[in-house]
Amino acid sequence: MATSKVFFTNLRANPKMNLLQKLSKLIDMAGFNSIVFEHKFTAIKIHFGEPGNMAFIRPNYAAEVVGKVKKAGGKPFLTDANTLYSGKRSNAVDHLLSATQNGFTEVVVGCPIIIADGLKGTEQHEIEIDQPHCQTARISAAVAEADIIISMNHFKGHEMAGFGGALKNLGMGAASVGGKLVLHSTSKPRIQTDNCTGCNICVTKCAHDAVHLSADKKAIINYEFGKMHRY
Ligand code: SF4
Repeated sequence: MATSKVFFTNLRANPKMNLLQKLSKLIDMAGFNSIVFEHKFTAIKIHFGEPGNMAFIRPNYAAEVVGKVKKAGGKPFLTDANTLYSGKRSNAVDHLLSATQNGFTEVVVGCPIIIADGLKGTEQHEIEIDQPHCQTARISAAVAEADIIISMNHFKGHEMAGFGGALKNLGMGAASVGGKLVLHSTSKPRIQTDNCTGCNICVTKCAHDAVHLSADKKAIINYEFGKMHRY
């Protein structure tokens, strides 16, 4: 595999160049102008942030990228797919309200905001990839149908991968809810039945109502049940 060229800039601004202008310059240096955007649907994949979370990319950075795509003749839209976990981004209604709360509106960013896998996370394309661990990938429809994808991702810690960046933003973040379920299914929680005292705490605390106690007071996880009752 060819080595990637990585371009970066620091966060120092000066009277001649603010951070948005530096972002624009960085994008140009990375080869933006070699991409043919004319009439192309351009998905800008971003994380809108959960309400109360401040660690998302500010909307005015997104607006800078949107403006450049539009200037190049493209049809940009800002997008993310619904989450697997229950929260404020697990369906398109809550997701769009969360995005609005964090400042991502069409007026601010300059393009439509589309939840990539639809109202309940079911709009997807199942694409053959024929890899050892995955034969198909369930990709959110709006991402799968886009002509161009730009990943606008923040850098974050991740409990399983160590760090999350562009690969996670696209590889996991662009998956539909069903796709995310597949991605997480190899690391599903298991009950060590011998150690279970039947205290019932996991039953009452499970955010997905997926745990119940058996007749002999042992916790049992119903993995499918948790998904079906997300809403
Ligand atoms: S009921 Fe749940 S929380 Fe309580 S001991 Fe069993 S597995 Fe642990």
